[in-house]
Amino acid sequence: VITEARLRDLAAFRADDVVTTLYLDVDGRRYPRAVDVDPQLDHLVRTARAAAAQRDDASHVGGDLDRIVARCREGFDRSRVRGVAFFACGAQLFEVVLVPAPVRNQVVLNQVPALRQLEYLLDEYEPFMVVLVDRRRARLLRFDMGELVDRSELIDDVPPRVDGTDDGGLMASHVQQHADEMARRHLRRAADAVRRELEGSKALRVILGGPAEAVAEFEDLLHASVRGRVEARLSISAQARESEIRAAALDVEAQVERRSEQALVDRLREQAGADHAAVVGLDETLRALFDRRVDTLVVSNAFEQPGWRCGACACLATRGRTCSMCGAEMDAVDDIVGEAVDAAFLQDARVELCDNVDLDVVGRIGALLRF
Ligand SMILES: [Zn+2]
Repeated sequence: VITEARLRDLAAFRADDVVTTLYLDVDGRRYPRAVDVDPQLDHLVRTARAAAAQRDDASHVGGDLDRIVARCREGFDRSRVRGVAFFACGAQLFEVVLVPAPVRNQVVLNQVPALRQLEYLLDEYEPFMVVLVDRRRARLLRFDMGELVDRSELIDDVPPRVDGTDDGGLMASHVQQHADEMARRHLRRAADAVRRELEGSKALRVILGGPAEAVAEFEDLLHASVRGRVEARLSISAQARESEIRAAALDVEAQVERRSEQALVDRLREQAGADHAAVVGLDETLRALFDRRVDTLVVSNAFEQPGWRCGACACLATRGRTCSMCGAEMDAVDDIVGEAVDAAFLQDARVELCDNVDLDVVGRIGALLRF
């Protein structure tokens, strides 16, 4: 699985040799049989071999590709894996990252691993849990990378409401009261279950769903620490199909993500204009990274640009070849923006990759600063 720690290790990888990055879409919804993936893989491998033949520093790439193909031949558990990322560099690096979300087929030969797709997935799909409740049922569905990864269900034997009975007031109201108490006990058990689920994973967000009355009662029973993580409510039946739940939840998640991106970009523009607590534009941002002042790096997802990297002082620049910081001779890199994202990861800065027109207007990249 992808974790920030694992990404950070890959981002830190440096070698004098070429690194092969290969992303393969193995999504069973698009490629029902395992062999259906083969033509895509063949095409990527052929492209990479042709690119390697053009370089004089890529003699080991053929071997790396053979190893990748051999790993693909072993197959993947495609009930859980929809995308695979390979990072290979001779004897120094061979990493296989299995992703529960689809990836875009891509092969890159570069000085460093091409991590942008993984970074984007990590940023875009934060893990969340959907909790659906009604008077007798509670369903907990856990999603990671936009895919259902775990589910559990709690069903209590609660009698249905006896609305509109006409066999006499007192008896019916007793029965009703008893049923309501049992329903409440059920919801309390569900609230405990949710709290236990959340204990181990501090980043998990919560989406609630079910009949409005049950959800409202349930929310009252939630521990404050859980209630603080509820970010949305779905109007959906507690018995909805999983595909329906997933679609509704991803829709809500995407809205939440877009809103938070917009808020971030607004803050970036405001602060860059006013009190210099932020910078915008590539040159300014690279400088802030060099000074280790970046708190949050905000980058347009599709932004790529060639540039320069100084091996002596690790400075990144749009113009070369002489380093303006230390005077050393810099190396040309294919994508300075990708390098900047890696650098931010390594500095423990937050990274936000977004599609936002307001960000594009100010140069497609910027940073909120620590100081
Ligand atoms: Zn330098």
